Amino acid sequence: MKKLLILLLAVILLCACKPILPDGDLRPEVAVTVNALYDITSYIAGDAVNVVSVIPDGAEIHDYSPTARQIESLRTAAVVVLSGLGVDDVFANVLRDREVCVASDGIAPRLTDTGAVDPHMWLSPTDAIAMSRNICAALIAAMPDHAAEFQTRCDELTAELATTAEVCAARAKSGVIVTTHEAFGYLCRDLGLTQLSVSGLYAEGEPSARQLAELIQYCKDNGVTRIYAESAANPAVAETLARECGAEIVPLYTMESAEGGMSYIRRLQYDIDRLTLG
Ligand SMILES: [Zn+2]
Repeated sequence: MKKLLILLLAVILLCACKPILPDGDLRPEVAVTVNALYDITSYIAGDAVNVVSVIPDGAEIHDYSPTARQIESLRTAAVVVLSGLGVDDVFANVLRDREVCVASDGIAPRLTDTGAVDPHMWLSPTDAIAMSRNICAALIAAMPDHAAEFQTRCDELTAELATTAEVCAARAKSGVIVTTHEAFGYLCRDLGLTQLSVSGLYAEGEPSARQLAELIQYCKDNGVTRIYAESAANPAVAETLARECGAEIVPLYTMESAEGGMSYIRRLQYDIDRLTLG
């Protein structure tokens, strides 16, 4: 009986000493916003790190409001990765008291025709190389013991992105594409294309009747046969536009949220294939 009590006491002490986080995952936590950065960060970090997305699947990042609990967990994460250029300012604003990695730091932003900063930099393979390197540097600074493995995987990823950028350069052609959400400016730049959008940079609201009428007329006058649409945009607008000008709707991935269980690179290659259809 005495031996049993000692054994029981030993088990209780062992359990008491082992720190258990709420989700039971003992690995360092890295929090990210945009889904593309979740994929990039997960690839570089590997199994040593628990990468978590603070934007729930299917949520709209452009007008997302974090909960108090999410903000608290961001304060305690080993690394916080933001995209920057305004798309996740809501997180930057509440995390002024801690260091964060802004993946777009040091990369020249694209301006729209109206002079607004386009935040969708992750949709360019060229810019994604620089973003990956920024993320890798932040991971290494926070977890230097894993520096070699982080760097090896970052080199693998950037080599694949460089190959994808070469594909863009090889397929570059002039032309105008019509999209619902104005998210593909960086990728269109890489492909030599000009983007004409239905709903503006942040997919907010709907176009006015006059804007829609002008776009329908443009599509008719220029023989537009495809309307490129993303899932977060209003499908009714894309359907109206496609119907009025006899075009088909072609889906694209914005990678702002998880889509179809596909990796970042696979979605990027998918978008390039669709935007360069003959
Ligand atoms: Zn967007």
